[in-house]
Amino acid sequence: MSFIGLDIGGTTTHAVLCDDDLLVGAEASAPTPARSGAAAMLDGAARLVLRLRGQAVDTVHGVGVAAAGMLDPRSGRIVRASDSFHGWEGTPVAAGLGERVDLPVVADNDVNCFLIGEVAAGALRGVEDGVGITLGTGVGGALWSGGRILHGRDGGAGELGHLPGYGDEPCSCGRRGHLETLAAGRSLLRRYLARGGTAASAADVAAAARAGDERAVEVFTDAARALGMTIVAATRLLAADRVVVGGGVTGAWDLLAPVVHEVVAAHPPLFGPLPDIRLTALGAAAVAVGAAALARLGCGTEVPA
Ligand SMILES: [Zn+2]
Repeated sequence: MSFIGLDIGGTTTHAVLCDDDLLVGAEASAPTPARSGAAAMLDGAARLVLRLRGQAVDTVHGVGVAAAGMLDPRSGRIVRASDSFHGWEGTPVAAGLGERVDLPVVADNDVNCFLIGEVAAGALRGVEDGVGITLGTGVGGALWSGGRILHGRDGGAGELGHLPGYGDEPCSCGRRGHLETLAAGRSLLRRYLARGGTAASAADVAAAARAGDERAVEVFTDAARALGMTIVAATRLLAADRVVVGGGVTGAWDLLAPVVHEVVAAHPPLFGPLPDIRLTALGAAAVAVGAAALARLGCGTEVPA
């Protein structure tokens, strides 16, 4: 029994073919035609699915899609997407892909898929309650409670990157003072440049911090404090003690972890252990494998066409 997971990101669409244990047997990727409209994006995704289906040694039971933006899992439709995806809002992703590939398709947002994958086969394997956080261009969050993802109204639960109370800097969403304004890759870069530093990426800022540049250390410390407080709040709300962190900025986890752990230890729960904070075990393919895990959850009992 096989499942295909798709990660439709802003620049690349990544697909994996997984077996029943979510081990990756084949992968394929292509640029996401984000500026060409939803039909072009779904056509591109369908080509990757059909290519991997052709490589499967057994029956592909279903496809999971991890889509950028806010997605209502009940309708499989995009509720909200960034401007970089032309015509993506309102797109019925699951139905649109399903009719192209003639397979059962389920969809959720990319961070929810990340967490589903880590619970199914990664750093949070088998846990009942946990929190997922991705630190990339933006900051994403996902909540796992009682063995399932919390979606809330319109699938918008767990948007930890847009929690307020973290200063007054402008956020990508148009509001101010959100976690993302301190902890996202582009925020680390912007704040370092604003302090007179020279860098082209968050990785450059991390290198400067490791070399002792106080301005770079300061922006990472601010990010880590904010992240620590968010972990305290999210784990307290769920009474969860397991957290998984992924995304490109975790390449600088050595700079973030000491302060994150310090903040979390300073605010212990009233009862039970401190949150156990782990890095992704699925790495760069975590979202796509998570989408395959979603397909396994949603399509595992489907009779193949
Ligand atoms: Zn925001």
